[in-house]
Amino acid sequence: MKRYIYFFEEGDSKNKKLLGGKGANLCEMTQIGLPVPPGFVITTEACIEYLESKEKEISEELKSQIRDAMKRLEEKTGKGFGDPKNPLLVSVRSGAAISMPGMMDTILNLGLNEDTVKGLAKATDNERFAYDAYRRFIQLFGEIGLRVDEVEFNRIFEKIKAENNAKFDTDLSSDALKELCKRFLELVKEKTGKEFPSDPYQQLFIAVRAVFDSWMGKRAVDYRREFNITPDMANGTAVNICTMVFGNMGEDSATGVAFTRNPATGENRLFGEYMVNAQGEDVVAGIRTPKPIKELRKEMPQVYRELENLRHTLERHYREVQDFEFTIEKGRLYCLQTRDAKMNADAFIKSSIDMVNEGLISEQEAVLRVKPEMLVQLLHPRLDPKIDKEPLAQGIPASPGAASGKIVFDADRAELKGKLGEKVILLREETKPEDIHGFFASQGILTSRGGKTSHAAVVARSMGKPCVSGCEAISVDVQAKEAVVGDVVLREGDIITIDGTTGKVYLDEIPTVEPEFVEDLLVLLEWADEMSTLQVMANADTPEAAKKARKYGAKGIGLCRTERMFNQPDRLPIVQEMILAETKEERQEALEKLLPFQRNDFIEIFKIMEGLPVTIRLLDPPIHEFLPSEDELIHEINHLRKLRSTIEGMEELPDTLKLLDPEIYQKYAANLEMITHAMEEIKNRYDTEPIIKEKETLIEKVRALSEINPMLGHRGVRLGITYPEIYSMQIRAILEAAAECIKEGIDVKPEIMVPQVCTLQELRYVHRYVEEIYQDVKKSYGIEVPFKFGTMIEVVRACMRAGRIAELAEFMSFGTNDLTQATFSFSREDAENKFLPFYNKMGILQHNPFEVLDVKGVGRLMMITVEWAKKTRPDIKIGICGEHGGDPESIRFCHYIGLNYVSCSPPRVPIARLAAAHAKLKEKEYQGI
Ligand code: ADP
Ligand code: MG
Ligand code: MG
Repeated sequence: MKRYIYFFEEGDSKNKKLLGGKGANLCEMTQIGLPVPPGFVITTEACIEYLESKEKEISEELKSQIRDAMKRLEEKTGKGFGDPKNPLLVSVRSGAAISMPGMMDTILNLGLNEDTVKGLAKATDNERFAYDAYRRFIQLFGEIGLRVDEVEFNRIFEKIKAENNAKFDTDLSSDALKELCKRFLELVKEKTGKEFPSDPYQQLFIAVRAVFDSWMGKRAVDYRREFNITPDMANGTAVNICTMVFGNMGEDSATGVAFTRNPATGENRLFGEYMVNAQGEDVVAGIRTPKPIKELRKEMPQVYRELENLRHTLERHYREVQDFEFTIEKGRLYCLQTRDAKMNADAFIKSSIDMVNEGLISEQEAVLRVKPEMLVQLLHPRLDPKIDKEPLAQGIPASPGAASGKIVFDADRAELKGKLGEKVILLREETKPEDIHGFFASQGILTSRGGKTSHAAVVARSMGKPCVSGCEAISVDVQAKEAVVGDVVLREGDIITIDGTTGKVYLDEIPTVEPEFVEDLLVLLEWADEMSTLQVMANADTPEAAKKARKYGAKGIGLCRTERMFNQPDRLPIVQEMILAETKEERQEALEKLLPFQRNDFIEIFKIMEGLPVTIRLLDPPIHEFLPSEDELIHEINHLRKLRSTIEGMEELPDTLKLLDPEIYQKYAANLEMITHAMEEIKNRYDTEPIIKEKETLIEKVRALSEINPMLGHRGVRLGITYPEIYSMQIRAILEAAAECIKEGIDVKPEIMVPQVCTLQELRYVHRYVEEIYQDVKKSYGIEVPFKFGTMIEVVRACMRAGRIAELAEFMSFGTNDLTQATFSFSREDAENKFLPFYNKMGILQHNPFEVLDVKGVGRLMMITVEWAKKTRPDIKIGICGEHGGDPESIRFCHYIGLNYVSCSPPRVPIARLAAAHAKLKEKEYQGI
């Protein structure tokens, strides 16, 4: 015989799967001596057996166990179930292993009928109260157990209130409530064709069944799908049978909900609301306005003190901030439920630190309480929390942070206005790769279509700009430069505010507040650093980014890309000169002009990062990326060509007009004269031919450099080997910059990193230049620059040859973006724009592998690489750079395979620091791959 029932004093509170979260906590609270009304839990197993049974009936076995339990409850309470003299009433409450707020049902005051209601009135000497409880029971039981529509009950209720001139339920007299019960019972009979069940056991079995059934109700099923709650997380609901206590027994009774600390600020003070002379869900339902809990201190001082004690006991026991329900019956306090409180990030962090200081929890527990992703809320500009405004529309929170600006409908306009110093928000149906210049110029991006992996979302995230995508309430008409939301029409230049953290869009400007490191967060992150073994570095290409990296607590720069330095306006012409060079000498000349620029870049960054490693990646992209595109050039040439014929035509215009329409000619003669002059001047000043020639040569070069598949083409180390002067210049810039710094007494730790390597031979090749230049610098500066030499691992073959490559590489850094592309044979742009969202929807792939590291494929490759590399060079330093380096799940994996560091964008550094500590603290539980 299986045991289906546990009394609150018996149940194992650890077993949430069997008892449900609510049941397990009722057991736990009872066992630590808190004032919980007596009761018992029917297990989730009973629920599953019922749902799987053919006849969908409660088994005789379960019924008999319930009867026995009710007998025991009668003994405990000294009341009788169905006994008119002293009736026992219970609540029948659902509760699964995972809390699903509002998804399943609860019935209160079960056990009432025409006889017991009279008994209750007599026993309590309060007729009004008894009928108030009865009408609540008939309604809840009618709705949940007998499926009579709520609307029907409410209609009758409103009618009675009107007949009695009552504003609130509390204004109804005992007689009015009696009448209400009568009409409710008639309603049930009319709708179900049967008398309302008066036998308490019959009521109880119907109620238990209704709770079981609610597990498969549409609302609950949808909720589980939405939040990915799988059967091994929660299977079936438990049913909690709990002796009723009454908050509706008069002015000395009440019901309420409270938090042990303020869930918005973390302040260590009781927080909540209560309602006098009310029952159960009245507080949440908003039938009357509840009062803030501090008023209870005056209204019922003794109970308030008890509540304070309850709060401390709960926290001391659970060591988490609790969200609890209570009822006061004639001045006596009961606790009916508790669970871990949901709080915002500020509150979470503050309460974590406080609880450590109060000796409630350990530093490790504090670190583990805060989910790394929670910090996202804190690390981007956010809307001023003091301002409370209704949003205009809700979209998908695609890239965190908030921004305001004038609406523009295309990327060119965004660029134009952005360059004029205006703040703009780019609003489009969706974005495409050719809109990229508009992103740079905008404060934020808003699209009416697309999800979290849409082009807009991905690009905005990579740039750290706020983005709201898929805001379907907005219909965008780019042609008309207009967007419509309900009855609001938005035009170019109108100001809006978007919040990429919440997905909300607002009309007008809402001020934002810059993220700042509150003291509490700093403390928490310091603890995290002490606990973790994985170090966190930042990806930073510029001095500004390097400063941020330090501010966010990075232990160095894990990836400093040099291409952005090439792209700056004062250097691009020199870079182009270098690319267009016909001879080695010409190229060398251009590179010599670039050298001082690069050296200064590195000096600045080294100074900022004093004492910490800076890993510099030699040039990676194919060089044609620094040239204009063929289309652009053709377009320009066309314009220049037309200029010639336009001028010639304009010169002849006066004569032509004279011929055609002398009147018109007369009218505009003066203007025409001016134009002719202007034309002449332009013609004399500019000879377009040589410019056209130049552009044509450029086109040829662009064509010669163009590749079918640039991603797999002439880039990275391949470029470095075929044009040795480029890498030599960069290596020299790095080593000379380091030498300059050392001369000034600054501690530098440069690391030279070669991209796209697939064989040791390539690395050897580059290493030769490094050796040569090192000796050179030694000679000219008299300094032996300490540096490390290493490689990116982003080519599958490099993984397979890691053992050999490690002979020369002192460090390795996984470039998991390229490595993911190579492992899947997906091009990221195409995948994210075309088929990945579909793959995700169909469940073919669980995640976007460019955001969440694919541990089973790419991860396995990494694991093998680490193993082989360490065999050759046990002290090799191995890390990861790129988006995955900032993703907590991926970080956990990196820790598991024994990487030394992760490197991510500066704003994600704090998240990664916390995640690295979590990875260490939870390493034993990690399942691996
Ligand atoms: P939910 O999961 O929706 O919060 P509950 O089962 O907690 O549902 O119950 C709904 C309301 O009824 C809560 O306000 C709760 O405090 C109240 N309630 C439940 N059981 C009892 C009881 N035995 N006595 C008094 N109030 C109760
Ligand atoms: Mg509840
Ligand atoms: Mg790469």
